[in-house]
Amino acid sequence: MDATEQSLRQSLSEKSSSVEAQGNAVRALKASRAAKPEIDAAIELLNKLKLEKSAVEKELQSTISGSGNGSLDREAFRKAVVNTLERRLFYIPSFKIYSGVAGLFDYGPPGCAVKSNVLSFWRQHFVLEENMLEVDCTCVTPEVVLKASGHVDKFTDLMVNDEKTGTCYRADHLLKDYCTEKLEKDLTISAEKAAELKDVLAVMEDFSAEQLGAKIKEYGITAPETKNPLSDPYPFNLMFKTSIGPSGLTPGYMRPKTAQGIFVNFKELYYYNGKKLPFAGAQIGQAFRNEISPRQGLLRVREFTLAEIEHFVDPENKSHPKFSDVAKLEFLMFPREEQMSGQSAKKLCLGEAGAKGTVNNETLGYFIGRVYLFLTRLGIDKERLRFGQHLANEMAHYAADCWDAEIESSYGWIECVGIADRSAYDLLAHSEKSNTPLVAEEKFAEAKEVEKVKITPVKKELGLAFKGNQKNVVEALEAMNEQEAMEMKATLESKGKVDFKVCTLGKDVNIKKNMVSISKEMTKVHQRVFTPSVIEPSFGIGRIIYCLYEHCFSTRPSKAGDEQLNVFRFPPLVAPIKCTVFPLIQKQQFEEAAKVISKELASVGISHKIDITGTSIGKRYARTDELGVPFAITVDSDTSVTIRERDSKDQVCVTLKEAASVMSSVAEGKKTWQDVWASFPHHTSAAADE
Ligand code: AMP
Repeated sequence: MDATEQSLRQSLSEKSSSVEAQGNAVRALKASRAAKPEIDAAIELLNKLKLEKSAVEKELQSTISGSGNGSLDREAFRKAVVNTLERRLFYIPSFKIYSGVAGLFDYGPPGCAVKSNVLSFWRQHFVLEENMLEVDCTCVTPEVVLKASGHVDKFTDLMVNDEKTGTCYRADHLLKDYCTEKLEKDLTISAEKAAELKDVLAVMEDFSAEQLGAKIKEYGITAPETKNPLSDPYPFNLMFKTSIGPSGLTPGYMRPKTAQGIFVNFKELYYYNGKKLPFAGAQIGQAFRNEISPRQGLLRVREFTLAEIEHFVDPENKSHPKFSDVAKLEFLMFPREEQMSGQSAKKLCLGEAGAKGTVNNETLGYFIGRVYLFLTRLGIDKERLRFGQHLANEMAHYAADCWDAEIESSYGWIECVGIADRSAYDLLAHSEKSNTPLVAEEKFAEAKEVEKVKITPVKKELGLAFKGNQKNVVEALEAMNEQEAMEMKATLESKGKVDFKVCTLGKDVNIKKNMVSISKEMTKVHQRVFTPSVIEPSFGIGRIIYCLYEHCFSTRPSKAGDEQLNVFRFPPLVAPIKCTVFPLIQKQQFEEAAKVISKELASVGISHKIDITGTSIGKRYARTDELGVPFAITVDSDTSVTIRERDSKDQVCVTLKEAASVMSSVAEGKKTWQDVWASFPHHTSAAADE
């Protein structure tokens, strides 16, 4: 726990004891009918102590929330953002006329445009610039695939029920809410208790059902709405189950991630890529998770867009040829050592983090750098973006290293992109289940002498013993890996027989010493066959977009100063509408010119709004600021227009002919506003603006 917070909690508990003791003293004096001056002096001291206590309380409150009334500010800010987003149809609760469904949201026109801009930049930044192989796989997935990946058995969250009403809650969320609320609002808890609650918050992701249940009982946590007791936590699988085809005999699921589509197509993509590694598959698509209790608006939903990359690499060489391009980047990183020793995230140089081994390998580091550039170019605030490393016990056992890009929003730090080195786990799992080797080859320039295990099934003996099943047993024996074969050899030598599982028969068979010969021999090999490792950056597009909305939102006073106007300061890259076009006054030539510019903008694909309604300029700006439109073109003469930039309110004067091309170059990021400003006659913040 933060040292200041700890000493303030300590001091508050001392002050509370002093107030209580002095209160008792005053009561005792009154009861014993002590002299008035003596009682007055005691009351004066009591008031002084109360004042001191309340000063410490205030200081503690402001330390906890960071800015006095932090949580209230955050909530008011969020309300303003969400209100603007819903009013301007960035998003709409799905099935609103039927009272909606928790965790399902539709995007309205500006929301669709922002999403499409984010996705096209994602394609440009990753698929195009990194030469990735994009695929588009189905959402409906047969059970066998998700059984192999582990989702059927393990894709669960722990749930508890209100014992009387049956309402479901996510167990860890209840514990988290309890701890956070105590820490933020209950100033009376001791420093030790506060440290304990913080510790629980730090490690709870790793709690088993039993540990979580024990904590819920220990803290007396009840159902939030009814205060009824809660059941013990139990796992709930988050996948939406369905059946494929009319028979109802082929179970399937709506995919919870897009990744499996890339893994199952690995062989095809590897051949498409000329059997060369490394290469990456990429996919944008819907993912479905039947979240137990969706909350936090767009951040935790039941259907969302994921953009995922599976970068396949030789496990023996995870260097990256372009690592030097990102090595000089410096940004907030939160390595696991810092997390465990209670420090906060620090600005680190990515190259140094790689050299020191803080980041496991160059390819993982390269993607961390590329994700940083992607997010900040979209408009995510650098100071509110950090890369947090998973604690060793938070990672799946097979993962080599994992980092999350976390973005700070009014809900706290939110995981928006997970970047994981998943080793060979997924390809091995699908190879095994599908009986299809998902492997890569490295051809040697010269053949190498290596010691290899040679497995020779003795077909005659196997035929006598297993008759029609002989072929299955032979194939299974030949498919053993080196370790399995050497273990079998040792058992056969010591015991003369061994039980051996033949998957294709679905049973164990008894192998005797005379049925197989296993030896180690020197052989010449011309290639190495291996299962590639995979590095997986996985982007929650809805989360990124929501955080972007918050980071770009601000308010400014109207010219008259009587109201606050909302502005989304979207960079041109993501702005849903790049510019508005309107005539300064209602004059036919001006209107005609506005229509010509609009047509030209449409023909080069620049989204814009033409407004010939004659509304006052101030009102128009206020309306378009709420949609984050970065530029406005005003036709104010027969030969030229004024282009105004939203944030600086600076203006440049360009000829009618140039208007559309200047606009498209700045909207598409080919030129900056500063370039435009320097190239044309200009003036700062327009007087007639608001
Ligand atoms: P995961 O496969 O759980 O690591 O999730 C990958 C990414 O999907 C996360 O980094 C989030 O950005 C996003 N995500 C996960 N669950 C949800 C959800 N319920 N709603 C919206 N986005 C989610």
